[in-house]
Amino acid sequence: MSTSEFQSSNLPLALVTGAGSGIGFGIAQHLAEQNHKVLVTDINIDAATSAANEIVASGGVAAPFALNVTSQEDIDAAIEFAGTVDVLVNNAGIQHVARLEEFPVDKWKLLIDILLTGPAMLTRAVLPGMKAAGKGRIVNVGSIHALIASPFKSAYVAAKHGLLGFSKVISLEVAEFDITINTLCPAYVKTPLVEKQIEASAKEHGISEEEVVNNIMLQPMPKKSFISIEELCGAVDYLISPVAKNMTAQTIVLDGAWTAR
Ligand code: NAD
Repeated sequence: MSTSEFQSSNLPLALVTGAGSGIGFGIAQHLAEQNHKVLVTDINIDAATSAANEIVASGGVAAPFALNVTSQEDIDAAIEFAGTVDVLVNNAGIQHVARLEEFPVDKWKLLIDILLTGPAMLTRAVLPGMKAAGKGRIVNVGSIHALIASPFKSAYVAAKHGLLGFSKVISLEVAEFDITINTLCPAYVKTPLVEKQIEASAKEHGISEEEVVNNIMLQPMPKKSFISIEELCGAVDYLISPVAKNMTAQTIVLDGAWTAR
């Protein structure tokens, strides 16, 4: 699909970060099926391009865009390309697992930059357009780790907790508009990010990958299952719908009763 074809489409525009893989790709595909044109952004332009191509091949309207959420230059360029954004999905993320004393300082700061400052700066960039349109929807992909902690994930847990506080502030700042900001908090979703963690934990503990899944990852979750991308898309559908106009500053927890204990 050519840039001009994408830009001239009148469909509402959804910008998804980290859309080249996993949850972001799944949400981008779903939003395209729900009649949005999707700006498929990722730091990895090859991944964004193949994701956008796959969406277009299935009949959707999509374009890839190189966007590192820690780069203000990239954010400005993406918004200039996109114009008014109707739906922003702050999804890009990485993980690093280490005891605080052994956590590389640069890595700690990078996680905060990607997982907290990135969504804040993207939100900052889309708000003028949303305010001019009088409406907009911002959906953050948080995590169960926005609510609970696990050892060795200090940067990730701090950033995801921070996202909830950030969203509450923004909901107050845009309360006079039909603009909402909410955070999805899933337990484990089987994506490349988690596959890497399973492999690393198995090596670290000298156990099988199956044991990592059953005895570590799903152990604290009463329903003992991974959250599917389909479940997340169902929540996105609700959050971006007109009936969710007063649903803002909220945390949508998909955790199989993990936090019920
Ligand atoms: P993933 O590794 O499959 O995909 C993450 C994507 O983000 C990749 O395409 C990567 O290139 C991109 N990315 C990384 N750094 C970036 C940057 N600086 N700028 C732009 N893009 C960047 O991971 P995923 O599991 O799909 O995770 C997506 C989001 O979901 C993350 O915010 C993660 O914290 C959250 N999450 C995941 C799980 C899970 O179990 N997989 C659970 C809860 C929350």
